[in-house]
Amino acid sequence: MLDVKSERELMAKAIKASKSSYSPYSNFQVGAAILCSSGKIFTGTNVENASYGGGICAERSAAVTAVSQGERKFLAVAVFGSFKDAREDGLQYAFPCGICRQFLREFAAKDMVVLVGTSEDDYKKFSFYEEILPHSFGPEDLNMEA
Ligand SMILES: [Zn+2]
Repeated sequence: MLDVKSERELMAKAIKASKSSYSPYSNFQVGAAILCSSGKIFTGTNVENASYGGGICAERSAAVTAVSQGERKFLAVAVFGSFKDAREDGLQYAFPCGICRQFLREFAAKDMVVLVGTSEDDYKKFSFYEEILPHSFGPEDLNMEA
């Protein structure tokens, strides 16, 4: 289980990652940070494309980076998103989209949590399997090792 210090650190890394966002079309800058079972944290940001459908979300960007480094189990994911130059009092919680929820499901530990916040002091914590993607489909449904 994550302690508050680790949660705040994960949120801070998600916020920092959002600063690298390439989002000239939506101006919505998202950062994600994933804590893996190795203890390492991987971050990602949304990368848009002139061919809109070719873009990728921050969560999948971070997940692909982690898996590319050999990680296979995610313990926690933090997400931060805001419009470019948004005022602090105008920030909203940015939840993972449906595609990212399914993508994260592949590597989600049984007790994985998702943190969605506007700052390292203001975030909500959700159980991935109970609140973010209940009744999900995953590797074990294909009789693959989870
Ligand atoms: Zn997404």
